Amino acid sequence: MSDYDVDLFVIGAGSGGVRTARMSAQYGAKVIVAEEQYLGGTCVNVGCVPKKLFVYASAFEEEFRTAAGFGWTVPPQSFDWPTLRDNKTQEIERLNGIYRNLLKQSGVELIEGRAQITGPNSVTVNGREYTAGKILVCTGGRPFVPDFPGNEHVITSEQAFYLDTLPKRMVIVGGGYIAVEFAGIFHGLGVETHLFYRGPLFLRGFDEDVRQHLATEMAKKGVHLHFDTDIEQISKDTTKSQDQLTLNLADGSTMNVDSVMYATGRKANTQNLGLETTAVSCDSRGAIEVDDFFQTAEPSIYALGDVIGRVELTPVAIREGMALSENLFKGGSTKVDYDFIPTAVFSQPNIGTVGFSEAQAQQKYGAIKVFESRFKPMKQTLGGIDEQIYMKLIVDAESDRVVGCHMVGESAGEIMQGLGVAIKAGATKADFDATVGIHPTAAEEFVTMRTERSA
Ligand code: FAD
Ligand code: NDP
Repeated sequence: MSDYDVDLFVIGAGSGGVRTARMSAQYGAKVIVAEEQYLGGTCVNVGCVPKKLFVYASAFEEEFRTAAGFGWTVPPQSFDWPTLRDNKTQEIERLNGIYRNLLKQSGVELIEGRAQITGPNSVTVNGREYTAGKILVCTGGRPFVPDFPGNEHVITSEQAFYLDTLPKRMVIVGGGYIAVEFAGIFHGLGVETHLFYRGPLFLRGFDEDVRQHLATEMAKKGVHLHFDTDIEQISKDTTKSQDQLTLNLADGSTMNVDSVMYATGRKANTQNLGLETTAVSCDSRGAIEVDDFFQTAEPSIYALGDVIGRVELTPVAIREGMALSENLFKGGSTKVDYDFIPTAVFSQPNIGTVGFSEAQAQQKYGAIKVFESRFKPMKQTLGGIDEQIYMKLIVDAESDRVVGCHMVGESAGEIMQGLGVAIKAGATKADFDATVGIHPTAAEEFVTMRTERSA
């Protein structure tokens, strides 16, 4: 019998925390999880799930236009924001209930309240101290907004999910996943949408051709892209019937909009967590430092998910949680393999990607072969939307292994999940070529690209 109240005390019931708690309990550990805000964490409440529902909602306007080309009479459309917002919230509440049941059914005790570490083996919640053999910090992150005059007037993705009314004209600042996804969402819902990014082209780190292609497609749809653009100051005019924001830009110009959303990255939730009562250390970005087994500098304390700032994706937090619970309570010694993680940006059109960009592959492998294809989706031959799909395969010339696979186009995320299996398994270009296509699909192009791109 352990001297502690529990074997494992998990702080945060998000993607990583819930999975680790459930798996650990399944392996026989006594587990408490503390959650201060919402069950399921960022992904369920203000991330992946409501975002994807909004992406679906925002795609209908183009679908209605496409339908007309196929002979459908489409009546005049109108969109009701409160219906979408509230239906989404209802679905999230349903999921919160599912998470509650999952924890209960797996024998994990849930405590609702803010947890604070008080030492290497103790945590307080709601005024009571609990002792634990091991503590897991799974507190995720929160939006980061840079410091500048008037930044109190901006919203982040967290508020975007609960707006009272849709703005008529808005600016989204940032060039990462969230900025491009929300630019597509608001544009599709009828908002005049401007995306400001401080550099020459958004989605730094993604393949250059993919970034260029998405920029072209988004601009064709009517999203106003402003690269090399920065806001210096925001002021609010409260004398108008609807409050208006005036933006002073770094180039000396001004712009008036109803709303500004900052999507300029996220910071780890490590403040007021009591880490100073332990030997846990954080890096220069504020993320908790851990080894290959998620152990911090304090041997009894572990951390995973967004709070360690490695790969901020739900399936990665879950994978890390599975490895940790197995290692702690099932005698495993699993290391998480971060190579070839497939990912999608739910921009419109989608990006799906796995493996290296062309520049990264060139640096890593030296000699590479590149195969690419641009074509009009079959649906749009009658649908009439001016859109092109882009696909690219990057092959290590020496081994013939496909080391990068990228797509911009409808359902790219869905398509990339399957290709991710092949690429993770080490498929070569010859394997791709030997695979029979499924006709007529867009994805078949991945197995029919034969001509190497000339330099
Ligand atoms: P979280 O899910 O953030 O959970 C942390 C939990 O800890 C929270 O519930 C928080 O309330 C709680 N907490 C914090 N401090 C305390 C405390 N002291 N005491 C008690 N509880 C505490 N990923 C994808 O894979 N696909 C997507 O499409 C996708 N879309 C996203 C869209 C948006 C807008 C955002 C913001 C993120 C998106 N992500 C997506 C990323 C994904 O949401 C995160 O990677 C994932 O949620 C990380 O899980 P986690 O367990 O580390 O943290
Ligand atoms: P990202 O880190 O992806 O992007 C942040 C963006 O903000 C970058 O373009 C960055 O520019 C810019 N930026 C940073 N600081 C400033 C500043 N001071 N002024 C102006 N611009 C700035 O963060 P997100 O917030 O978009 O998303 C957070 C994470 O959540 C993602 O990285 C991803 O892991 C996850 N996520 C996953 C999704 C998915 O799977 N589909 C969807 C949404 C989020 P620069 O490039 O120049 O540094």
